[in-house]
Amino acid sequence: MLGVLGVLVRAQSATLTARRPTPPHPTLPDHAHPAERCRTATPIVSRMDDILEIADRLWRGETEIGSQHPLAMAGGLTEVADRTAYVASFARVSAFSTDDGLLLVDTGHELAAKGIHGHIRDWDSGRLNTAVYSHGHVDHVFGVQVFEEEAAANGWALPVVIAHEALPARFDRYKMTAGYNAIINQRQFQVPRLEWPLEYRYPDKTYRDRLDVEVGGERFELHHARGETDDHTWTYVPARKVLCSGDLFIWCSPNAGNPQKVQRYPLEWAKALREMLTLDVEILLPGHGFPVMGADRVRQALTDTAELLESLVTQALELMNQGARLDDLIHTVQPPRALMNRPYLQPIYDEPEFIVRNIWRLYGGWYDGNPANLKPAQEGAVAREMAALAGGAGRLAERALELLGAGDLRLAGHLAEMATLADPTSAAAHDARAVVFAARATDATSTMAKGVFAWAASESRVQGSRPE
Ligand SMILES: [Zn+2]
Repeated sequence: MLGVLGVLVRAQSATLTARRPTPPHPTLPDHAHPAERCRTATPIVSRMDDILEIADRLWRGETEIGSQHPLAMAGGLTEVADRTAYVASFARVSAFSTDDGLLLVDTGHELAAKGIHGHIRDWDSGRLNTAVYSHGHVDHVFGVQVFEEEAAANGWALPVVIAHEALPARFDRYKMTAGYNAIINQRQFQVPRLEWPLEYRYPDKTYRDRLDVEVGGERFELHHARGETDDHTWTYVPARKVLCSGDLFIWCSPNAGNPQKVQRYPLEWAKALREMLTLDVEILLPGHGFPVMGADRVRQALTDTAELLESLVTQALELMNQGARLDDLIHTVQPPRALMNRPYLQPIYDEPEFIVRNIWRLYGGWYDGNPANLKPAQEGAVAREMAALAGGAGRLAERALELLGAGDLRLAGHLAEMATLADPTSAAAHDARAVVFAARATDATSTMAKGVFAWAASESRVQGSRPE
């Protein structure tokens, strides 16, 4: 069925698209965002004007999503419909040319801002009239300044930035937790020198539930939904039949479980996707990934994502309502297999197991149901006790490696961690921990799991007998 859809939508997209030449993307510095660095180290996409073709191949299963990571590609601008463009930076930028200048949905990451501006200027010369932040994540909100400098230089009116009313509080929080955010993003993306910004371009105008914005005589409908964040805006452009989902659709398993970040809202997320399904949409422009062209594909992408989230919530709540422990949920709830085969729901950034934990946190508390964990002993004390019972930290490390050899990576992880906790000075324990978590990083599918495991392996390599 996907193959048939592919042919249909391919034909349709050809009539919708008048592509223009794509200028080269500037070289990024070596401290660029991990996703951008990834691009420079390994050119994942050679011709950005092929983005619709890539999207089509991905949809039909002819290209693996892992080779076109939706958060790793960066490049140029593609005109996806009349006066409508999509800029494939780390976070995507959707650009609408109107009779009164440009409206942008999202503005890009700080390090990509100049490149994004250049791509847009090669396509359209109108002033930036309005920028909408789909949410306050830092990869979406740093592109306005370049346009403001341009406006000032040209004597143009300054752009208006619109966002949901919860967004300013996010920026405030980012300033309060800058150190934490630097560390967790270094870990998540495996970029040791990543820095967290301290200054933000706050919105000029905010709204609560719904806002219609008129630019150049055209209506842009802004809708609020809690989902990946509490400050999400998805934008519908009825005259063009274009939907900008923000990160409520990102060409991989929803980022509704992120282990190191604040609460996500899977059920409200699904509800927003279902609301989008009531609209007349031909083109979906997501916050990451690729355009989805054609009403049938858009419907399928939104429906499948909603179903995945709803299934995880239903299963988790069923167990919670029976008094299950968090441990039961983690090892019982399973995403529907058919949905996990979809090219746009692969667990390559976040993963469903982490979503289950977020559901627990959302509807429950931090207590996991294990009474030993309510007021626990220090981890090191527990580990030393276990080591003493087993015959020493070295024995725990050996057992970790045996379990790794037997293919039980989860259990191996516990034993390796326990070995170093029991004796933090043991090179053998750190060697085992480095090997086990390096293997876990290789085995993991998601950016988030790979990041955490690789970080642990790297810590122990430094303290082990074979530092690199
Ligand atoms: Zn994003």
